[in-house]
Amino acid sequence: MITVENLTKSFRSTTGAVVALDDINLDVRAGVIAGVVGPSGSGKSTLARVLALRERPDSGVFRLDGLNTAALDQRSFRAARARIGLVPAGDSLLPQRTAAGNIALPLEQVGMEGPRRRERVGKLLDLIGLTDKAATYPDQLTAGQRQRIAIARALVGEPTVVLADDPTSGLDATGAAGVLAVLDRARGELGTTVLVTTSDATVVRKIADDVAVLEDGRVIEQGRLLELVANQDSQVARSVLPAIETTAPGDADVVLVGFASIGALLPEAGSRFGIDIAVAGGGVTKIGETPVARFRLGITGDRVDAALGWLTERGAYVQRALTGPRAVAAASAA
Ligand code: ADP
Repeated sequence: MITVENLTKSFRSTTGAVVALDDINLDVRAGVIAGVVGPSGSGKSTLARVLALRERPDSGVFRLDGLNTAALDQRSFRAARARIGLVPAGDSLLPQRTAAGNIALPLEQVGMEGPRRRERVGKLLDLIGLTDKAATYPDQLTAGQRQRIAIARALVGEPTVVLADDPTSGLDATGAAGVLAVLDRARGELGTTVLVTTSDATVVRKIADDVAVLEDGRVIEQGRLLELVANQDSQVARSVLPAIETTAPGDADVVLVGFASIGALLPEAGSRFGIDIAVAGGGVTKIGETPVARFRLGITGDRVDAALGWLTERGAYVQRALTGPRAVAAASAA
């Protein structure tokens, strides 16, 4: 539904041109939560503003549901823009308006009449769990509550996509969890496609289906999160999987996805191949709702290779460790 091809954007600064987006290619599937993760200055806000049609790229194509947004006439452009909600980075509420007043603002701007407006705002206050704060002013709300209101304001025009630019920045754990729950509900209950930028891999681990890693304005990695965890070279995998908190050597590091694999595969391999499998490090985490484990295994027995092959066939991602005699053999072969 969002397709980005060779998108480029630079800014002039006193020290010369800054390339904020450098030949970006990106796909966001309809109905997913996509995360764009990168450090400060990597181009996340610029990308969010360009995709929200608030800023024009220098070159490249941005298609929304197949339509090239650069080729639209003024009226279609405005219609396309209305289909993309933006939650800007930072505190973006009007301090002189109540929570409900902030959420209603985009509807007032398009001239929607009172009763319909109130119904929509009421529905969104309910979605973000702040019905009792309708008449409260921003300075009486927590930062997390304010951010939830900013999300409601971005959703009130019923966009098909909402872009949330670093929405958990500066929030404590409770505030951040509340914001992520609201984004998840927007997708689940309203069917909105969500694109969230963040510098925090935890955000990606908790809610993203798909992820793109941004570095110096370039996408250096992208894909489905549960597939990327299989890739030992993946930066995303390293940041979302449990660390192997041991320097103890092992025979293999394995990644297991899903409750059934984690619970059953290792014991079954043990009994089937007559080997002893000891977990020397690692642990289990959750990626979205899916449990995912990374373990360092020490294996004793004769049929280690057969057991690891069997695990691989059953969907475990296995990386052999090069230690002991095998490492010496590999080193001398190199
Ligand atoms: P992020 O959101 O990841 O922190 P930004 O998109 O804000 O990254 O910035 C990417 C790069 O573009 C940075 O080097 C930043 O200084 C520069 N930049 C962003 N917006 C502007 C602007 N309006 N004028 C000049 N430089 C900008």
